[in-house]
Amino acid sequence: MTDPTPKIRYPETKERSAELLRLALQRMSAHDAALNPLTFSVWYEHLAGGNAELSRAFEAARQDDPRLGDRTIQNLYDQHVIAARERDAERVGDGLDRLMSRMAAAAHETGDQAGRFHSTLEGLTEVLRGDDVSRIAVHVERTQSHSARMADSLQSLRRELAQSRDEADQLRAQLRSLRSEAVHCALTGVLNRRGFDERLAAMLARPATSGHEHVLALLDVDHFKRVNDTHGHVLGDRVLEAIGRLLREMVTDPDASVARYGGEEFAILLPGCGLARARAVVESVRSAVSRIKLRQRATDREVLRVTASAGVAPAWPGDAPTAIVQRADAALYAAKQSGRDRTVMAAEAPAQRATAVPAGA
Ligand code: GH3
Ligand code: MG
Ligand code: MG
Repeated sequence: MTDPTPKIRYPETKERSAELLRLALQRMSAHDAALNPLTFSVWYEHLAGGNAELSRAFEAARQDDPRLGDRTIQNLYDQHVIAARERDAERVGDGLDRLMSRMAAAAHETGDQAGRFHSTLEGLTEVLRGDDVSRIAVHVERTQSHSARMADSLQSLRRELAQSRDEADQLRAQLRSLRSEAVHCALTGVLNRRGFDERLAAMLARPATSGHEHVLALLDVDHFKRVNDTHGHVLGDRVLEAIGRLLREMVTDPDASVARYGGEEFAILLPGCGLARARAVVESVRSAVSRIKLRQRATDREVLRVTASAGVAPAWPGDAPTAIVQRADAALYAAKQSGRDRTVMAAEAPAQRATAVPAGA
């Protein structure tokens, strides 16, 4: 039977994938491996950030072969691109199958023993009811031996159960980590786009009260293209990494989520936070971004600073995910248009106008 909802391997939108394509082409051109689909898959998956195992292996391989030649790329492809996720899921699935059949066999064996024990007991009862005393001893002995086997069987079932519980715990942990890799960005450690979509839907599904609105903020690095053009993509990546770390450290409300929405754009979800507090959170993150100092590893010289702009939108009752994203995006666009390095709040209600918070406010 075919699966009616096949899993989408590359969940990126057309725009995001076009950006990744451009990025991948730039990087591929700067390295040695041939520009074939295999090399592209490796770069694409690494840049998209959804295949953590590949990204780790990628960084490790880079140490040995900084030019990333054909052989290195081929190895990365064979080991970490071909059905990487399918293989992992299969491993967990196989573990579960094995566990289930061992449990079934143990239960079956104990059931058989119990059945035999039951007939032995019936035999004994019958003998006890009759007059033939000489047969009692034989039956008692038989019952004893069956009872011992029954006890053995129960004991091994107990052992089997304890071991299975440990294995089930391990499998659960593996599933948790697979699930976590599927929704996190390997470069920045924050949620990826898929994780963001899930949390946004969950946030909008929760009722909110006045003064404690749900809030979405989009934060985009200013003139990031220039950063890449001037300092190279490796340093660009380090900027994104640092912003991811900063978001994870600063946005600590247990209900809040931080995500990489796209290339150099991050999202902060603040359920029930209220606009005033959300604005303060976003402003503190933004000002921390402008204080990030990146140093060149070789010289320890400070090489660059960046600023960011943000658009903040409260959820309206009955909001669809696309609607609140559009409003946050429009506010972000307004922040860019009015000079960058600032936060713009989207309208609180359809009648209200967007207001700008000057940089540093
Ligand atoms: P603006 O202030 O208007 O946002 O200008 P910008 O240059 O930041 O925006 P633009 O959309 O023109 O360029 C974004 C750049 O971000 C282009 C792309 O190469 C870069 N980028 C996207 N993803 C990554 C990534 O994963 N690593 C690096 N180093 N660069 C990335
Ligand atoms: Mg930008
Ligand atoms: Mg952008």
